[in-house]
Amino acid sequence: MKKNMLGNTGIEVSELSFGTLILGKVQANLTAEEGSRSVRKALELGINFFDTAQSYGTEPHLREGLRRAHDKAIIATKTRARTRNLARSDLEASLKDLDREYIDIYHLHLIDGPQDLADRRSVLDLLLQLKERGLIKAIGASVHKVEGARAVVAEPDIDVLFPVLNSAGLGIIDGSIDDMVEVCRQADTRKMGIYAMKPLGGGHLRKSPKEPFVFLRNLGFVHSICVGMKSPAEVEMNVDIFEGRKVSKETLAQIETVSRTLRIYDRCVGCGACVEACAQGALSLDRSQADESKGKKGQSVVDKDKCILCGYCAEACPEFVIRII
Ligand code: SF4
Ligand code: SF4
Repeated sequence: MKKNMLGNTGIEVSELSFGTLILGKVQANLTAEEGSRSVRKALELGINFFDTAQSYGTEPHLREGLRRAHDKAIIATKTRARTRNLARSDLEASLKDLDREYIDIYHLHLIDGPQDLADRRSVLDLLLQLKERGLIKAIGASVHKVEGARAVVAEPDIDVLFPVLNSAGLGIIDGSIDDMVEVCRQADTRKMGIYAMKPLGGGHLRKSPKEPFVFLRNLGFVHSICVGMKSPAEVEMNVDIFEGRKVSKETLAQIETVSRTLRIYDRCVGCGACVEACAQGALSLDRSQADESKGKKGQSVVDKDKCILCGYCAEACPEFVIRII
């Protein structure tokens, strides 16, 4: 597996990285032991870079999969905290859940724009102090918005950019893929590390297995491409694609061919929290399904063409009635 330096962080990462959101509670809902099998397979096949977040609930999956191999793995995790105290407790929880003494890349999760970044300045200052003490090796930020990416690139204290990046621009909330590429080129000029989120547009670009990756490779500034992989067979398939091999019939036979989809069960009470949480505008409330006798104000419905299966709505639902299956 080809490796690249992640900008000027001094961290070397595999060109294919493992996105663990898919293993967690709002998607495949695997136990730590089940999820660890894919992690172990990835490591065995040369993937050394793993992306997680406290909110995904998949740090224990990494801990189990990376036992006795911690020194070989690079881990990025994230916090949404807006205060120093909350950020400190998020970091402590991540270190404990990962069973590690430091985090390679610690992200400010989902920076929206300059005001959002300014609001989290106290968290960024804390991360700088922790970096000096060696508890964090590099500071990053994940973004779904071009405006967020611009703010991050303009902030010299941030080393790594983790943007939504795919040929169709799926999942970029406030602009086109050309807009995002332009900001990434500025990040590259600054020698930031850059790795791509949603390279397959939440599965919409899966029909052509190689093209989404060729597009990202040809940009010339992407150090790693982060792909969600649920099973050891999916890991094998993606490694074969990355290394230019034909995927074997045996591997293909083990891949689930059913496309994943968002399910919203009818126990939805119509509170609207998921609609607020969906930055893609893929959810709306159907008020015609309200039922006062059951305290139901409506039914949340999804526009599947807009949904990129990020799972944020499921995290926001107080009734636990959204699943990606
Ligand atoms: S998974 Fe939920 S939050 Fe994400 S795009 Fe789909 S509907 Fe929106
Ligand atoms: S958050 Fe849950 S309960 Fe509320 S509208 Fe959405 S699906 Fe329904």
